[in-house]
Amino acid sequence: MADCLFCKIAAGEIPSSKIYEDESVYAFSDINPQAPFHAIVIPKEHIASADDINAQNSHLIAKVFEAIAKIAVQENLEDGYRVVTNCGKDAGQTVGHIHFHVLARRYLQWPPG
Ligand code: AMP
Ligand code: ZN
Repeated sequence: MADCLFCKIAAGEIPSSKIYEDESVYAFSDINPQAPFHAIVIPKEHIASADDINAQNSHLIAKVFEAIAKIAVQENLEDGYRVVTNCGKDAGQTVGHIHFHVLARRYLQWPPG
């Protein structure tokens, strides 16, 4: 999608620090990490937010979670991790391409603030 930051990152048009890639999914380091390990995991195909998941594209979300399981092994996240997607204004979504934060290597408070 034109003018989408994460579409451009997935396409390699904007540089990023790659953590994982397959035909459907791209993962990279968050530029403003909130934990010692903070990855952003995205479907390469543009989906705006969790509101836009449907029967036609939900297989791409499954691919994202398959990738996260592989990333956890690759990055030795054996002590655990948190997966978060922010949807909309009140959740603080700032990029309009669905993305999953994977946070690890520190104790993560629950419930979040
Ligand atoms: P959210 O606030 O849930 O929409 O998350 C967007 C995330 O993208 C934030 O954690 C940002 O730090 C991160 N981010 C924004 N631009 C970039 C970039 N160019 N490279 C890596 N991460 C980015
Ligand atoms: Zn996009």
